[in-house]
Amino acid sequence: MEILSRRYFLQTAAVTAATSILLKSCAGNPPDPTNTGNTSVPTSTSVSGPAPETTKAKLGFIPIFEAAPIIIAQEKGFFAKYGMTEVEVSKQANWGAARDNVEIGSGGGGIDGGQWQMPMPYLINEGLITKNSTKVPMYVLAMLNTQGNGIAIAKSQAGKGISLDMSKAKDYILSLKQSGKPFKAAYTFPKANQDFWIRYWLAAGGINPDTDINLITVPAAQTVANMKTGSMEGFSTGDPWPARIVGDGIGFMAALTSQIWPFHPEEYFAMRADYVDANPNATKALIKGIMEAQQWCDQKENRPEMAKILSRDSYYKVPAKILEPMLLGTYIMGDGQPEIEDFQKAALYWKSPRGSVSFPYKSLDLWFLTESVRWGFLPPSTIEGNAKALINKVNRSDLWREAAKEAGIPQVDIPTNDSRGVEKLFDGKIFDPENPKAYLDSLAIKAI
Ligand code: CA
Repeated sequence: MEILSRRYFLQTAAVTAATSILLKSCAGNPPDPTNTGNTSVPTSTSVSGPAPETTKAKLGFIPIFEAAPIIIAQEKGFFAKYGMTEVEVSKQANWGAARDNVEIGSGGGGIDGGQWQMPMPYLINEGLITKNSTKVPMYVLAMLNTQGNGIAIAKSQAGKGISLDMSKAKDYILSLKQSGKPFKAAYTFPKANQDFWIRYWLAAGGINPDTDINLITVPAAQTVANMKTGSMEGFSTGDPWPARIVGDGIGFMAALTSQIWPFHPEEYFAMRADYVDANPNATKALIKGIMEAQQWCDQKENRPEMAKILSRDSYYKVPAKILEPMLLGTYIMGDGQPEIEDFQKAALYWKSPRGSVSFPYKSLDLWFLTESVRWGFLPPSTIEGNAKALINKVNRSDLWREAAKEAGIPQVDIPTNDSRGVEKLFDGKIFDPENPKAYLDSLAIKAI
């Protein structure tokens, strides 16, 4: 049965060549010897659990902060520790390439899974963004991070009140529309996280993202160049790109996603279901490696070393001195706004005041599907009908829990409930996963 109807999902993603740079990894390397004095992490030191069926996996990543747990698990030897000694970590040219590569699978020169914006694993699972509508069954296995994203604005737009509260800039944005040169804003892939953040932020200020401005897709790595040439005024993406725009004097930060929705769901670790079904123990070993990396990343004293690792040419190719302040929660906002210095507003990977970051809460998957309905990307029947069945099929929180137990994660850090409960966003809107329709009804601006 087709749970999500394709006819509602108008594909606007640019078709991209199925190319990726497969980086032959330093698989199997022991943890960095310069870090041997660090005894504070990880907390999960046990290497228990059944032996993996394979030692191989090919995992894709996009060079933004969300990828850190995958990169750190590789570089610090956490995948190898759990028996995954032949993991390849593969930089993807853009989200379209990642999608194409997971559709091909590692057998065809692609990838088995990796880092995803939401709800991409669901859209791939349902054949809504794949070639020829091919359904490629996927499993969501862990959340990679919260926060660490933002909305950057070009310098030409300074002094217009463009900030977290967009009601102050509404008249200006509408005047641009009247003049025939509407505000142009970009995200890295349509109908997923960065598209949702910029839409939520605008709509909360009374601006309709579909009719009052122009929204376009731009790969993360091209954002600085596009902002420089004036081909767009706003941009929503993962760190370090928005902050590079500030650092290079090209623009300023209007909002951090940590301000829009503190401890919001961000990107996820998901894999092809055929890999997981054939290799459940190897999958759990990968999850354990990611969990250990997430714990390591959340030790503030490790962040300078994290910046050094991520800065390498094979990963972000951005100087560590640019990455480090953001990793420590320092954000220079620009345009007269106060600087933010708060580690709790940085990208977090393992735990937050809202509980586990790593655990894939099904209630958060439901928010992404509900927001997809809000903007007309998925039919209303998605949440009225089969959303729960779909989420139960795709979200494998059961594997996360098994991996956590095998890794010796304390019981207190293993959520027993698949719901994180009621969510509150910066404009006061409430998302109760028990009643997504009430959330939709409460929103003034929507496409339905
Ligand atoms: Ca992101």
